[in-house]
Amino acid sequence: MTAQPTALVVGSGPAGLMAATVLAEGGAAVVLCEKQKAMGRKLLIAGGSGLNISSALPLPDFLRSFEGPEIDWHKLFGKFSVRDWLEFLANLGLKTFKGTSDRYFVEELKATNLVKRWLALLQRRQVQFKTECEVVALRREIDSTYVVQLASGEELRVSAVVFALGGASWLPQGASADWQKMLAAAGIQQVPFASANCGFSVDWKPEFLSEVGRQPLKNIELQTRKGSRKGDLMITDYGIEGTPVYAVGETGIGFLDLKSDLTAAAIAARLGSAAENLAPLRRAVKVLKLDAVRSALLFHHAPAGVLASTESIAAAIKKFPLLLKEARPLTEAISSRGGIALIEVDENFMLKKMPGVFVAGEMLDWHAPTGGFLIQACVSQGYVAAHAALSFCQHPSI
Ligand SMILES: Cc1cc2nc3c(=O)[nH]c(=O)nc-3n(C[C@H](O)[C@H](O)[C@H](O)COP(=O)(O)OP(=O)(O)OC[C@H]3O[C@@H](n4cnc5c(N)ncnc54)[C@H](O)[C@@H]3O)c2cc1C
Repeated sequence: MTAQPTALVVGSGPAGLMAATVLAEGGAAVVLCEKQKAMGRKLLIAGGSGLNISSALPLPDFLRSFEGPEIDWHKLFGKFSVRDWLEFLANLGLKTFKGTSDRYFVEELKATNLVKRWLALLQRRQVQFKTECEVVALRREIDSTYVVQLASGEELRVSAVVFALGGASWLPQGASADWQKMLAAAGIQQVPFASANCGFSVDWKPEFLSEVGRQPLKNIELQTRKGSRKGDLMITDYGIEGTPVYAVGETGIGFLDLKSDLTAAAIAARLGSAAENLAPLRRAVKVLKLDAVRSALLFHHAPAGVLASTESIAAAIKKFPLLLKEARPLTEAISSRGGIALIEVDENFMLKKMPGVFVAGEMLDWHAPTGGFLIQACVSQGYVAAHAALSFCQHPSI
């Protein structure tokens, strides 16, 4: 057994890094364990497609974006808000900006500097880093401390633990969220993981794919039973990706509005008044300036009979049926649903069955769409959990 550190944070994603910061700044001696070779890997991956760190939506819309009714989201963001997070980033020396669709990004779009500067801050706060260090078990001692067992066989005795172990998406093929076994052994109820913020398979005709390839279908609106969302979709060889399908994707028939800036009546009027003597589809392409992807979609995938008249083409442009076959697998999803059941935690994300042990971030069974909500919720939960964890720590430096 090693000398006693006071608090252990496990996982170096946004939730874990924030928890380590709060604990260290609150005077605790902190050990940060990460099973990977390097810290913050998921954040670095997230930065690969432009690091969207939060949302600028007005508070009511912002709060409505989160699923997980057992969490008091209003209270959570009252304790660590979007503004607090942006200030924290500014203090790290990072510039942020508000992009399109009310999203905040770090100026350089990547996460490299964020991770580097955050780790440097933790080092200045004397946080002890342990990489390639997987936590595999924990037990409560008679004196209410916890003994945490590492895969190496080493044991650490701590006063408080913050688990920030992440969800189950984007793991390498065949890998799994192994921490589930550890917490199941401790009697903690979990909800099975499923893909979230993921693409859907569509049976594209080979002729369509060879004509279009991987291209964006810009500025459309996707409607499903879950609701509707505007944005850009990416056509892939297996189906579709992009914000609209991440937000409202659901197995079954969805409808694309391919000209969301025009009403059905305006489209019909334009098509009806065009003088050219062209076949209905060519007339629609010309008059409505449909791009190559829209034109190919109508040509190859419009339901039988639709291309016979401009009226039916106008209707199909506004409500183009598309069968979304199934959600893409967890290995490709941006995030996951499922994880620790929310009934297991109190308002500070402490496990009710294990006083002094906290869980934060994507490992909990809440969900939000893309748009910066995920990282914001993770840092806010890490902050709140760590604040409460401080009361379980001895404060050697205070
Ligand atoms: C391609 C992609 C793009 C994304 N883009 C965005 C975006 O722009 N904006 C946004 O808000 N979100 C984005 N996300 C989602 C975001 O990255 C995650 O929601 C977020 O990283 C979750 O944070 P976390 O702290 O809960 O867990 P993670 O960041 O997943 O970190 C958990 C850490 O715990 C470690 N760990 C697990 N088990 C153990 C163990 N037993 N012992 C020790 N260590 C362990 C893992 O190795 C991991 O490093 C994106 C995700 C992906 C895949």
